[in-house]
Amino acid sequence: CENTKPTGPIDTTMCDYETVESVNSDLFSNIHELVKMPFFKYFQVDLYRDCPFWDEYGSCNNPSCAITTVDESEVPLKWRARALSKVDALVEDRHELPGCYYRDSDFCWLDDNTEGDYYDLTLVPERFTGYSGPEAHRIWRTIYEENCFGLSEFSLMDGKAPAAVTLPETMTDVLREDGADSNDQCLEKRVYYKVISGLHASISTHICAEYLNQTTGEWGPNLHCFVTRIASHPERLQYIYFNTVLLLRAVSRLGPYLSAYDYCSTGTRQDDVETKEILSNVISIAQKAGRFDESVLFRGENANVLKEEFKAHFRNVTRIMDCVGCDKCRLWGKIQTTGIATALKVLFELDEKALNPHSNANLLQRAEVVALLNTLHRFSESLEAVNKFRQMWADMSSTE
Ligand code: FAD
Repeated sequence: CENTKPTGPIDTTMCDYETVESVNSDLFSNIHELVKMPFFKYFQVDLYRDCPFWDEYGSCNNPSCAITTVDESEVPLKWRARALSKVDALVEDRHELPGCYYRDSDFCWLDDNTEGDYYDLTLVPERFTGYSGPEAHRIWRTIYEENCFGLSEFSLMDGKAPAAVTLPETMTDVLREDGADSNDQCLEKRVYYKVISGLHASISTHICAEYLNQTTGEWGPNLHCFVTRIASHPERLQYIYFNTVLLLRAVSRLGPYLSAYDYCSTGTRQDDVETKEILSNVISIAQKAGRFDESVLFRGENANVLKEEFKAHFRNVTRIMDCVGCDKCRLWGKIQTTGIATALKVLFELDEKALNPHSNANLLQRAEVVALLNTLHRFSESLEAVNKFRQMWADMSSTE
């Protein structure tokens, strides 16, 4: 902790970092409301599939790991009916695998929306559950060692120990893509690593922001947790910003598609009007801050091979979520990997024609739209939490 004292602003190499800082509070207040709307709060998923990679994957008996389902009758009929009627349309495209499938353009294995329970996401916040130890480490290790092009923090730093630690006041070089990482890995692989490491960092931030003090039984932010898991590895924090920009870019590109989507749950169209109002604020913010240039990726000689590899790895990550031994962690792991996979598909697979809501109204499943916006909410909330931790650090330092 000694080393986490702020040492001044981080080098400014691109404006995007500051732009994210400047829009996040507005983004968070809007998206926090959006995910409470009926369309975005119900998510159907089969949480109890076999882990396809190993037999023993443990379970979490801690009450904090548990989640409650909602009765299907609470979910607006329309979405239940829509989910069922979609199955026929998708049968031809899917690969033979019970309960889930992918289309060639997908970066994840998707549920077919006919199995699994419904969850009200507003009732099961992602936070500390106590899931940890070898089982949790095996998941992360498998993701990094087998599904991350062999990249890890160690390899990205050329085998050197992490640099001296700072708890940043402002974030200014999140998108320092070119030449910033001291190794010769290609841009696409580094982007992949940032996506994974940023997701891990965001999950850790939520754990630290809503931590259970097991002695007092009280919930609250745990600065020490944040300093050891995030702030003492500045690049992890940068990758949270990186993911946020990537998700914002996907939302920005999807703007017309999302604006044309039908969010009406009640038949009175009230939900539709409210949801679209908030969503249009989120889209405007995304247009300002979602500055990610996807066109520079997957351009070289082996672009297609590399993209298929990228996809295969990410699909594996989405399947590894079935091996997570804590229900709540698995739920949020599935939502967020689906949300990121949707963003990757929008950025790297779909052109403007495909994104046209009039010619391609069934482009995305409801689950993909819900996952994308809920994942953006997770990252925006992480950035809010980072600000609170900065304040806690400043308060603590001033009383020393
Ligand atoms: P871990 O976070 O388990 O990390 C393992 C190792 O990975 C570290 O020792 C470090 O070497 C490396 N590492 C850590 N962070 C990064 C990073 N950002 N980038 C690169 N390398 C890194 N627990 C909860 O309490 N609530 C949850 O909601 C929750 N959700 C989870 C979802 C998933 C998909 C998984 C796999 C786990 C989840 N967990 C959750 C468990 C949690 O992520 C940790 O595994 C657990 O808290 C133990 O943390 P740790 O400090 O031992 O290190």
